[in-house]
Amino acid sequence: MADLIATIPPGLVIDGERVESSDGQQIVVADPATGASIATIASASPDDALRAVGAAHSAAKSWRETAPRIRGEVLRKAFELMIERRDELAEVIVRESGKSWADAQGEVSYAAEFFRWYGEEAVRIAGTLMLAPNGDKQIIAAPRPIGVSVLVTPWNFPVAMITRKVGPALASGCTVVVKPASDTPLSALLLSGILDEAGCPPGVVNVVPSSRSSQTVGAMLGDPRVRKVSFTGSTEVGRMLLAQASEQVLKASMELGGNAPFVVMEDVDVDAAVEAALVAKMRNGGESCIAANRFLCHEAIADDFSSRLADRMRNLRMGPGMDRTNDVGPVINERALVDIAGLVDDSVGAGAKVLTGGAARPGQGWYYEPTVVTQVDHDDPILRKEIFGPVAPVTTFVDEDQAVELANDTEFGLAAYVFSGDLGRAMRIAESIDAGIVGINRGFVSDPAAPFGGMKQSGLGREGGHDGILEFMETQYIAAAW
Ligand code: NAP
Ligand code: MG
Repeated sequence: MADLIATIPPGLVIDGERVESSDGQQIVVADPATGASIATIASASPDDALRAVGAAHSAAKSWRETAPRIRGEVLRKAFELMIERRDELAEVIVRESGKSWADAQGEVSYAAEFFRWYGEEAVRIAGTLMLAPNGDKQIIAAPRPIGVSVLVTPWNFPVAMITRKVGPALASGCTVVVKPASDTPLSALLLSGILDEAGCPPGVVNVVPSSRSSQTVGAMLGDPRVRKVSFTGSTEVGRMLLAQASEQVLKASMELGGNAPFVVMEDVDVDAAVEAALVAKMRNGGESCIAANRFLCHEAIADDFSSRLADRMRNLRMGPGMDRTNDVGPVINERALVDIAGLVDDSVGAGAKVLTGGAARPGQGWYYEPTVVTQVDHDDPILRKEIFGPVAPVTTFVDEDQAVELANDTEFGLAAYVFSGDLGRAMRIAESIDAGIVGINRGFVSDPAAPFGGMKQSGLGREGGHDGILEFMETQYIAAAW
């Protein structure tokens, strides 16, 4: 069988054509399971990015005027093609991101659902009409597509983070330029082919992988034809893009970093909490913005919870995602491996205790062992920074007030998890935590029909649900006398 990766056209996608980079630069894509390169693709220059903006701008009028039903059907068709080609998409995701086969399959389903959901939403965009209070006019308020949108996405969900933006953008009538992460551009190029096949017209979705992200994105955000930036990635980069967006007063959506607390009260069924903890921590090998990053356990059950969690973590099979029996793959790159190891080593140096794992696996590929550390100090950096790997640090609290205080002791506010046998108590705690997403007695929370996004420095705006489409629209008010 021909190598699937070799069948993906390596060019930039501009106006429906696959083209070389204008200055011939390229990106080498590596397989985290071996460290070896698996593909070389075009790397967009700032000029290329601006040509993509031009293509999106030229396609904008006719796409905006395309009937909502037709726009919706393009998305519906793309959903169906993604499901048909699930294994192919999963394989490319595994090869370039390193995640497990099950996680890649899960990502394809999740990603495709955004196309289905927004295919349905495309025909449900409504405004309002009311008589003015003094009766002198009709107030018509109607949402309109904002215009050319620049979408910048991360490597941890190479397909889903794109469909979560492209779905609502296309449904609302916007055209886009996608700048995927340099570690995982192949999934984006494969997805682009699926959108073509689904009937998406040239110029509506352009894709410009670039190893010069700051220059290419900077050039696009400075172009007056662009009206919107939607970014998913680190808070650090998000802050810079927000500053750049201010120059042209772009509408901005920011899905940024997280530091999710996983709160376990003393009244839980410990086994159920451990199973959910495993999902909240280990989905995507811990490389998720909503991954449980801090386990806050009531002191009465912390030892029991930690040792049972360590037993489950110890038994996970680690290895390449292309071997479907493995539960955990490598982390994305060597830098990530070094960062994770540094956080654990420093925590252990400061007195934390390793129950399982605690080291990188020697040999080929970027593997870090599934790890549980306990007796972690409340001020330990491992509880302050995004770990983004298979490491569960456990610390304790004495009562509900302290649990809430610790949960909120972070500049992030993306996700939180609360476990308690008393639902009223769990609800009370959930409402006291400043997080955009809270899981109660469950570890898996993502759903394309739900609004996903962060409070505090975890972001601005929401993706998914009806909220997601409004991010790509602005309201026009027309004052009318009949
Ligand atoms: P990142 O370094 O911020 O990169 C994200 C994207 O921005 C990539 O496409 C990257 O391109 C690009 N980029 C980097 N520097 C840039 C610059 N100066 N100007 C313009 N673009 C730039 O984040 P990451 O390491 O890929 O992803 C991990 C982070 O994403 C974590 O913090 C995670 O929490 C967050 N995340 C958040 C969500 C959410 O929904 N809130 C979801 C997933 C991930 P290159 O690849 O070329 O550097
Ligand atoms: Mg890679």
